[in-house]
Amino acid sequence: MTPTILVVEDEPAIQELIVINLKHAGFLVVRAGSAEEADATIRAALPDLLVLDWMLPGQSGVALAKKLRADERTRELPIIMLTARVHEEDKIQGLEAGADDYITKPFSPKELVARVRAVLRRRAPHLSGEALEIGDLVLNPATHRVLAGSQPVELGPTEFRLLFFFMTHPERVYTRAQLLDEVWGDHVFIEERTVDVHIRRLRAALESSGHHERVETVRGTGYRFKGA
Ligand code: CA
Repeated sequence: MTPTILVVEDEPAIQELIVINLKHAGFLVVRAGSAEEADATIRAALPDLLVLDWMLPGQSGVALAKKLRADERTRELPIIMLTARVHEEDKIQGLEAGADDYITKPFSPKELVARVRAVLRRRAPHLSGEALEIGDLVLNPATHRVLAGSQPVELGPTEFRLLFFFMTHPERVYTRAQLLDEVWGDHVFIEERTVDVHIRRLRAALESSGHHERVETVRGTGYRFKGA
């Protein structure tokens, strides 16, 4: 499944640069020159990720990001903000608006592609392909299904991403802050105890198959997923 990226940028030269590089990296690319145009495009078909310029004619990128986050249908849409602004308060404003990552112009196309891949891996693991197996626990990113032996494991979207992260990073201890960063993204305003809530739900979902014992609490540090 090829991810579709919507590029929202009003400056033609920069838009072209981004589009060419994303296409070259193997993505399907759709473009918009304003927030209004992007809005209409998203209403027609939901992309897998948005590269969103901050400064746009009419509605700003930040305003569009806030609007998308407030809407049930687009709440989970990964967003990378693009901006010429460099001040820390602008970055915080961008992240508060719901951006998953933030790139300051001028940027290298290589960096942009790397950031797009990183955000997709984190936010949309189902787009990355191959099934993961630990013991008889099998997570299929393409179908979003998890099986323990022949039994399906029902997981919410966050628990799914959490398990995906654990299965791709077994045996290492992660702090709550690291898990927030890796699984939730740069949402700096989420409290660390949120992690515990989702760990509890993940364990509960894995309990009947015994795989809950893989999710270990490391006292005073965080969590580790047993891969053996
Ligand atoms: Ca612009």
